[in-house]
Amino acid sequence: MTTTRFAPSPTGYIHVGNLRTALMNYLIARKAGGTFILRIDDTDPERSKEEYVDAIKQDLEWLGLHWDRVERQSERLDMYAEAADQLRGIGRFYEAFETPTELDLKRKKQLNMGKPPVYDRAALSLSEADREALRAERGNGVWRFKLDHQRIEWNDGILGDISIDAASVSDPVLIRGDGQVLYTLASVVDDTDMGVTDVVRGSDHVTNTATQIQIMAALGHGHPRFAHHSLLTGPQGEALSKRLGTLALRDLREQGVQPMALLSLMARLGSSDPVELRSEMAELIDGFDVARFGTAPTKFDVQDLFPLTAHYLQTLTESAVADRLEAIGVPGDLAGAFWLMARGNIQTLNDLEGWWALCRDGADPMIADEDRDFIAEAMALLPEGQLDGDSWSAWTQAVKQATGRKGKGLFMPLRKALTGQERGPEMAALLPLLQVIKARG
Ligand code: GLU
Repeated sequence: MTTTRFAPSPTGYIHVGNLRTALMNYLIARKAGGTFILRIDDTDPERSKEEYVDAIKQDLEWLGLHWDRVERQSERLDMYAEAADQLRGIGRFYEAFETPTELDLKRKKQLNMGKPPVYDRAALSLSEADREALRAERGNGVWRFKLDHQRIEWNDGILGDISIDAASVSDPVLIRGDGQVLYTLASVVDDTDMGVTDVVRGSDHVTNTATQIQIMAALGHGHPRFAHHSLLTGPQGEALSKRLGTLALRDLREQGVQPMALLSLMARLGSSDPVELRSEMAELIDGFDVARFGTAPTKFDVQDLFPLTAHYLQTLTESAVADRLEAIGVPGDLAGAFWLMARGNIQTLNDLEGWWALCRDGADPMIADEDRDFIAEAMALLPEGQLDGDSWSAWTQAVKQATGRKGKGLFMPLRKALTGQERGPEMAALLPLLQVIKARG
């Protein structure tokens, strides 16, 4: 039974980078008919906020990434304490008292000597009396997991065969001096206890994975399959980390990005499959294979979401957007015609308002000096009363006959006079919707 999890820390809004992780884990679970767990990594009581838990759920729901159950690490502290006891019992857990400044100094010395900045395990040689004295002086120490200095190897679902020398990694701190359980221990306990079979996460977690494999083994367990996806960069290959704040899912939603556009891009970007707009989640699930993703950093351009969104909107019928049309005030009897006229001329649904304002209020006419007489003559020929789908053709025929103009010289001044713009929807579809034609004078 395949089980995956998405494990955000509720310390901020989730962004496109998080989405990539969430989506891959979701697709693996759904493709296998397995379970997708939303795990809230909230062992840090100061930074974790309930508003972010709610926001993460809203964002996932907006995208249709439904989870089978929610787990919260803050409710599982007893299990982590038990695992810590187990590690103490087998001699793989030790208390260390160095201050951050001392650790920093050690690292600098090592680097100066051309050595890797790995924790020197000085705490292992403390006697019980030393520890008591240090505890009295500095309070409780941190708890480090004693790595076994062998190579740690696994076959990564994306990176292939990985081999890391445990001696090149510092013994990880699993519990802080104030007793707070850190992510590595909590994650190991949860992945084991929840039967997680597949973990996909960013390649910034590769070293964590190595230590987690050893901790799992020390606790008597095997480990899930791991796959580490590359990190996203900006379109020029620049680091995205600083800009991720502006790529929060809720900001994209605000900007009018459609869920299927975002999902279609993120489910294939960086893989050997082309990015194509899909209109159903099932299509994304069917074609998904984590092994098709590459190891190179993945370029992400937020601008790519808009043509995909526009493309998606063109496939929708009026009923799919009826609420939105009503919300901007399009009367029910005009909704169908308005949508057909507008849907090919919007990037996002946010653009509908502009077209409706044009229909409702009319545009300030754009008339070149040399076209003034022509427009006046044309307006006099515009039929009074209700216009329909044939009005544009009938009217422009009449104007052509009266003025001798044709082609662009005929159509463009009329479009500009009626819409105030050089480009836009089919005039034949737009004309009957114009409630106000300011160019009539
Ligand atoms: N809370 C961790 C993070 O957001 C989870 C990493 C993992 O998937 O294990 O980085």
